[in-house]
Amino acid sequence: MSNLRGRDIISALQFEREDVERLIDAAESLRKEIEEKGILDYARNKILATVFLEPSTRTRLSFQFAMVKLGGQVIDFGLAEAASIAKGESFEDSMRMVDGYDPDIIVLRQKVPGNAAKAAEICKAPVINAGDGWNEHPTQALLDVYTIWRELRRIDGIRIGIMGDLKYGRTPSSLSYILSKFKDIKIYYIAPEQLQIRPEVLEKIRGVDYEKVDRPEKVMEELDVLYVTRLQKERFEDPSEYERLKGSYNINRELLVKFKHIPIIMHPLPRVFELSTDVDDLPQAKYFEQAKNGMYIRAALIKEILGV
Ligand code: ASP
Repeated sequence: MSNLRGRDIISALQFEREDVERLIDAAESLRKEIEEKGILDYARNKILATVFLEPSTRTRLSFQFAMVKLGGQVIDFGLAEAASIAKGESFEDSMRMVDGYDPDIIVLRQKVPGNAAKAAEICKAPVINAGDGWNEHPTQALLDVYTIWRELRRIDGIRIGIMGDLKYGRTPSSLSYILSKFKDIKIYYIAPEQLQIRPEVLEKIRGVDYEKVDRPEKVMEELDVLYVTRLQKERFEDPSEYERLKGSYNINRELLVKFKHIPIIMHPLPRVFELSTDVDDLPQAKYFEQAKNGMYIRAALIKEILGV
């Protein structure tokens, strides 16, 4: 019996190495089955509710597609602006309401760090944290390591540069947490000092070899993977700081082709100005595949939580 059955997924630290390996296996078989049959039958009579109170493209769609391809049903909460939240309904009441209709899983994105855990306390249904402000995005971390595994056939021993907004970004923290469950990982945190990784993340990955660097050029030749992230404009307290820092990095073709070795390029997307479109047709550019991998590993996760 799988051990995530009925569980809330709040932090990437919850995933043990065996969980990741099992979910990757399941994602690979679901990929084959879905390619062959289109829509499967595992989640028949099950309902997944998506509650996205902050913008999303890939996470919402890939969860919804994953559930439909598993043969289940999806109910979407709709935009926060169109729901009673706009009339002043509290987050707690909204969650209680959604849960009251008895969904089998609730996928929740909202902007307050820690509120995914609060929702999990309120709701009977398992809650999957699809991003709680700058804090965490555990299923993004799953699809990130799945993509690394698909490209390199290993996760142990990788050298990864995580670049961009490591302070306000939630994908760098969740990715660091999940990688900390593997062996011999080296993480280069590439960011200007003001956007460097939060100390609490470093505390939680104790034992992982990491280094802070200010420029990607300094470590490019070392890397198996370069994971680029955008500046989280919506989370900057001071808009002038965003304006000042937004030109800090740009990964483009001209920069990359200078190196003898070009790492795999990943990005959780959306990209803004930190990753140029002229990188897209390099064979190392994997971000669109990464987004697609999200659907399969989320399907594997849903299936396991449902115990079907
Ligand atoms: N889509 C990712 C997230 O929700 C990355 C980003 O928005 O920059 O965290």
